[in-house]
Amino acid sequence: MERENRAGRRRNQLVVLAGPTAVGKGTVSTYIRENYPDVLLSVSATTRAPRPGEVDGVNYYFVDDAEFDRMIEAGELLEHATVHNAYRYGTPRGPIEAALEQGKSVLLEIDLQGARQVRESMPEARLIFLLPPTWDELVRRLIGRGTEEAAEQQRRLETAKVELAAQDEFDYRVVNHTVADAAREVVDLMKVRAAPSRP
Ligand code: 5GP
Repeated sequence: MERENRAGRRRNQLVVLAGPTAVGKGTVSTYIRENYPDVLLSVSATTRAPRPGEVDGVNYYFVDDAEFDRMIEAGELLEHATVHNAYRYGTPRGPIEAALEQGKSVLLEIDLQGARQVRESMPEARLIFLLPPTWDELVRRLIGRGTEEAAEQQRRLETAKVELAAQDEFDYRVVNHTVADAAREVVDLMKVRAAPSRP
């Protein structure tokens, strides 16, 4: 870690993208994965089941509770949290350390609890908060997604209110007007857009 902080070798960045539920963090990070191959998007472990189309090892590592416990005990997770009072999610430490060691930039798309843990354990990380254009738009996106029942939607909106109140804890704020623009702003903040052959 100390070596990474030496002057002249500080191109590698750990960047955390967080924000309220339904703001579009997942969509923005997927867009970044597909359009900015220089950014390594961390693949989290989760105890929830895959949704249709999700691929193990690409979207998440889908693990059971016993395996998640084992990962925690073995110190394999940089951070972990139970999200929406339901399933557990965590960031595998190994691939991130390897990427930073190689001078690559890494993006974590995680919840607020996880962002706070990363800030504690890696204070050099940059924290970005993704904001909806308006509260009404956030509500529309949450309802429009249609993947949760009414009671769950209500619970997530309550969570979103609390999460929005945390935006001042972050280093940067990006408003998600359109996915492509938000993705570009996030990548700009990672300073990885320049061609690799930099003078
Ligand atoms: P979903 O189940 O819809 O893919 O994700 C639910 C929530 O879990 C999102 O807010 C996402 O940011 C969060 N999440 C995904 N991976 C991680 C992780 O590794 N750690 C933490 N703390 N949250 C995560």
